[in-house]
Order: sequence, then C-alpha cells, then structure tokens
Amino acid sequence: MQTINLAAEALKSNQWEIKSVSGLPLIQSPLLNRYAGDLVHAFTTRNGGNTKAPYESFNLGRHVQDDALKADALHNRSILCTALEADLRYLKVPGQVHSGNIVTISEKDSAPELAKVDGVATRLPDVPLLLHFADCVPVIIYEHKKKLLAIVHAGWRGTAQAIARNAVDLLCREFGGGPSAMVAAVGPAIGTCCYPTGDDVVQQLMLTLSPPENVKLEIDDLDSLVKAGGDSEQPRPDLKAINAMQLLLAGVGEVDVCSFCTSCRPDIFYSHRQSGGITGRQGATAMIRSNAAN
Ligand SMILES: [Zn+2]
Repeated sequence: MQTINLAAEALKSNQWEIKSVSGLPLIQSPLLNRYAGDLVHAFTTRNGGNTKAPYESFNLGRHVQDDALKADALHNRSILCTALEADLRYLKVPGQVHSGNIVTISEKDSAPELAKVDGVATRLPDVPLLLHFADCVPVIIYEHKKKLLAIVHAGWRGTAQAIARNAVDLLCREFGGGPSAMVAAVGPAIGTCCYPTGDDVVQQLMLTLSPPENVKLEIDDLDSLVKAGGDSEQPRPDLKAINAMQLLLAGVGEVDVCSFCTSCRPDIFYSHRQSGGITGRQGATAMIRSNAAN
C-alpha cells in the first residue's frame, strides 16, 4: 500500500502569462507548451475583440438568443482560429449541458451529435476543439506518446460526474493511451476564494475522489480541497484542485493548474458569479498539429 499526498500536488497552482498572439491576448499552460511542436492550445480572455457590453469584448459563446451576438461569436471564433493557424471549417464545439459526456471525433469533416456533450476527444490532426466558459473549469488533456487530445468543460456538475477522469478513461479505452504519458492543463476558473456552495455539492464532488486500491489517502488530504470559514459559513470547494485530483488519481503524469480566479478578475475574464449571470464566454481550445500525425 502506497501513501502519497496527491492533494498537495493538486492544490499547487501556477501563474500563467497572458501573451499577445496576432494581437489577441491568449493564455497558455507552460506544461502543455513543452509539446508545442505537436499541440496547439490556448485559453482566451474577455479582451481583444469588439463584442458590445455586457458581453465585451471577445465573446465566443452562442448562449444568448440574439442573432447579432451569435454572428459576432462566430466572427470571434474565426479570429481565434486565424491567430492559431487553425481551420475554422473543422472547428468542433460541443453544446455543453453540464453533463459528464464526451464524444470522439473520428472524421475531420463531420462530427457526431455535439449538442448534449461537454467534452471531445480526438487523435485527428488539424481538428481544432473549442469549449467556452464563465467560471467553470476548462481541462485540456494531451497524451504525448500517441498524440491524443481531449478537452472538457467541468462545472461543479461535470466535476461531480468526473468528466476529467472520464476523458482519461476514454483516451485509454478508445485509442490505447497511457495515463502516465498524459499531461493536463486546468485553466482559468472560479477559485475557492469565490465559490461558497452547499454541503450537498461538496459531498457529490468528493465522491469522485475514491483512490485506486494501491493508493492510500489520508483523510486530511481530501479535506484540504475544501476551504471553510471566511465571509460565508458555506464550504468552498476548490473545483480546479478537485479536477486536478481526479486526473492525478487516474494516473495522469503531470497536471498544470492555472492560478487565475475568473470571479476575482472581471477585467480579464467573464464570470457568471461575479456578473450575476449576464456575461460572455471565454474559450479553451486545442488542436493536434498535422506534423504530429502518426
Ligand atoms: Zn476569486
């Protein structure tokens, strides 16, 4: 029986830089950038576009029933693809319904039904994947030996359905990926600082963290993923760390967690909580480069 303090690793977060790429402010994980020859990835901010208030200024979501805003989001997606030298025609964007569902993209030109899924996985090069966020946790997983990619949207409901772990399982099951060859980036999302919630939510989240049989976890380890006290009497789960923990428990080699809290930084990010619900969506996008094709 092995005892390891995975929670301490899951709780580590890193300051990611905001860089201008073709004039667009983008954030990248230093860990994923180690594989930049094979993998393109980026997290967008709310800045750099012309989207009107209260969705200013680089909204990628088509979640509001407004034709002009939807067209603007498509335009912004095309700007993002151009900045990353990705082809908009092959862009795959799941509907995002707070599920634990992930689908595999196995053809460049077509996709399975994406309306009711919150994650996509592929081994195809030149197929950009995009999900959007306003506090929920974006997770990009890359298997660098077989060159496999998955990206998921993990709000508390998706996290409670272990969507990040599901993505690891899917890459193993469908493509023969190995967890130890996987690296993952947990992007900008709401921090424990801004996320008081109910005991029932915490309970559901913690149920996803049962360790494999050969790993013994001290109970204190898991407790450290939920903060208590502060202004609110409510518990404050660390959604980013809980996702990182799911990945580490699934055997993922290395996880890079972004320290930005979307709710603390309305100058940089869209935040559902901070805005009261009327706001835009930033993106998390990734694509395997064609020169990386097997
Ligand atoms: Zn915060």
